[in-house]
Amino acid sequence: MREYAVHWHAQAPAKPLLGAPCNGCGLCCLAEPCPMGMLVSRRRTGACSALRWDEEGAHYRCGVLEDAKALAAAPGRWQRWRGRIWLRLSRRWIAAGAGCDADLVEIP
Ligand code: SF4
Ligand code: SF4
Repeated sequence: MREYAVHWHAQAPAKPLLGAPCNGCGLCCLAEPCPMGMLVSRRRTGACSALRWDEEGAHYRCGVLEDAKALAAAPGRWQRWRGRIWLRLSRRWIAAGAGCDADLVEIP
């Protein structure tokens, strides 16, 4: 079993069980980047540089998805179109909405 040492926000929610809805605990992205995170972070190990802490919601968010959402809501038609395509692709790529697929165990 691999072990990861991560800097986890004190207010982050506990990791749910495997297969349960993702609650933004952030542990998977702090442990190592997903394939899209490897591209944007330009590394294969360590925390993903796209991961963002949402102070208001007290959970982590994928910055790639957040940026795509912002682009999809942008005023320009061309921007919105690009944003929607990027949002659809990135959701599929990171399997958003598919439930927690991180087989990780927290060791405080
Ligand atoms: S997929 Fe699981 S480990 Fe990753 S942020 Fe969501 S709940 Fe946390
Ligand atoms: S889901 Fe987003 S934040 Fe998490 S590793 Fe992938 S690209 Fe990075």
